[in-house]
Amino acid sequence: MHRIIGVYPGTFDPITCGHLDIISRASQVVDKLIIGVAHNANKSPLFSLEERVLMVKQDMEFLQKKSSMRSEVEVIPFNNLLIDFVIRNHAKVIIRGLRAVSDFEHEFQMASMNLRLNSQIETIFLMATDKYQFISSSMIKEVARFGGDISPFVSSHVMDKIKSIHQST
Ligand code: ADP
Repeated sequence: MHRIIGVYPGTFDPITCGHLDIISRASQVVDKLIIGVAHNANKSPLFSLEERVLMVKQDMEFLQKKSSMRSEVEVIPFNNLLIDFVIRNHAKVIIRGLRAVSDFEHEFQMASMNLRLNSQIETIFLMATDKYQFISSSMIKEVARFGGDISPFVSSHVMDKIKSIHQST
């Protein structure tokens, strides 16, 4: 049987409930979901690639325990061109999340470029449920930096990880 493999790429610095919502929705659409954690040095992430991969893996265990995943899932770091990563993993679709209008311009450019690089790979955009639509990793880091409560927006171990950074600084 033909299996559809999808790649959900992102920086995940750190993974949030918005990402998790997109992941469980994507798992309804594909047979296997590969979460591609981008090295993304140009974004100067707060967490190392290894830490980000570990946080995503821990959250995936949690989602699987909650039976929120309908597909197989794998977490893989990458540091090359997204379309090459997609092809190497035999995927057919790229999953991206859309929040407000502000995401559109960047996502539109990225999807158009990827289509130009390989017209066989489609980008699918998903929206998170309304209570998670406004969440971004950068906003969470900002709230945490000033001691605000981020517990509704990230898993408990991501929260502990962020707290440990602020306690040590
Ligand atoms: P990137 O640096 O590739 O944008 P991010 O980790 O910030 O990586 O985001 C990965 C993807 O997840 C992007 O498509 C982004 O729009 C989407 N995303 C992040 N947070 C949300 C959210 N709250 N609702 C919907 N999509 C989201």
